[in-house]
Amino acid sequence: MSRKKVLVLGGNFAGLTAALAVRHELHGDVDVRVVAASEEFLFNPSLIWLPFGKRRPADITFPLAPTFESHGVDFVHAEATALDLDGRKVTTTGGVYDYDYLVIATGYRNNFDVVPGLGPGGNAYTITTLEDAIKAGEGWRRFLRAPGDIVVGATQGAGCFGAAYEYLFNLSHQLRKAGLKRQVKLTWVSSEPFLGHFGIGGLPHGEALLSMFLKKEHITPVMSTAMDHVDEGRLVLGIAVAVDVPWQTPTPVGIPKTGFPAERMAHVAARNIAAQIKGEPPASRKPFGDIPAVCVMDAGNNGVIILADKMLPPRKHGLLIPGPQAHAMKLGFEKYFLWKTRHGYVGLP
Ligand SMILES: Cc1cc2nc3c(=O)[nH]c(=O)nc-3n(C[C@H](O)[C@H](O)[C@H](O)COP(=O)(O)OP(=O)(O)OC[C@H]3O[C@@H](n4cnc5c(N)ncnc54)[C@H](O)[C@@H]3O)c2cc1C
Repeated sequence: MSRKKVLVLGGNFAGLTAALAVRHELHGDVDVRVVAASEEFLFNPSLIWLPFGKRRPADITFPLAPTFESHGVDFVHAEATALDLDGRKVTTTGGVYDYDYLVIATGYRNNFDVVPGLGPGGNAYTITTLEDAIKAGEGWRRFLRAPGDIVVGATQGAGCFGAAYEYLFNLSHQLRKAGLKRQVKLTWVSSEPFLGHFGIGGLPHGEALLSMFLKKEHITPVMSTAMDHVDEGRLVLGIAVAVDVPWQTPTPVGIPKTGFPAERMAHVAARNIAAQIKGEPPASRKPFGDIPAVCVMDAGNNGVIILADKMLPPRKHGLLIPGPQAHAMKLGFEKYFLWKTRHGYVGLP
């Protein structure tokens, strides 16, 4: 059997996991190449702390090349620009690469077009990329010199509400530490139909728990709302149209394709590629809705551990465990995950 070529686009949670897992599944008897637009792994969940100076970029990144090199994976720092699926070739800014199996793990993009006034040169900050979070940090330092009211929001079509809640609660925590909690009005604007929907239909007692958290933090919620546009210093709300998701909500919400399901999907892809290379059928399957929901929502010095047997309902079990241990767990997980991925131990949980 000639050695097969697996080409992976993207080198973060899913790409790194798929590349190393398929090498592992086939005991190294496969050529794996990763093409990624970034030279570094980024632990995106810690971007919630970066604007407040709780993390520096170097704390949450590491260079990808040594990790791939030490596991016999060819790493190309380039951007894929065109796919030729019939010809089994990918054009990149670093050359054209052919493949027998292709894994596309290029992650999420911000859709700034959904609300005029968001995005580069706009009137709001985002924390979804390293560059954006660094800019949000500049905004935070400017705010400290001239405080005003703050709105944190998750737009119509947003998918990762957990991250937005985390940022909201961390912001509230930092306002208190800066002695500004009383004078700054903090508002939460979300397209979710109710507090704690999270894009996954909510979890038992989630709405009550989130309501309690917001009340305790004196945060005003504005729910089931679409943003129309963002002016300088002013968010204008509007109504949007529902899009195709497993349920209908008055304002469309996305589904959170977070790090945990990204890794799970990468393992399924790796197992199916390995099976086919071994001449077996690609039998590994995991519908997205059946992946367990495992998440820690950080709140600065507190948080909530979110566990459910399935990402999407109907579920048998779902549990929210609030308390400071959630924050400690998030800190520990960041260190563990960066250690695990840097060394390529993708088989570890
Ligand atoms: C602030 C924040 C907090 C979060 N918190 C959590 C959390 O607590 N728990 C959780 O599970 N998830 C969390 N997430 C979500 C999690 O970060 C994502 O689900 C995860 O990053 C998805 O991994 P991925 O590998 O699919 O994509 P990404 O991490 O987006 O990686 C994409 C990769 O593709 C590369 N790439 C992109 N375009 C190209 C191209 N054209 N050619 C080649 N390479 C390309 C990029 O350089 C990168 O290497 C959070 C996200 C944010 C923003």
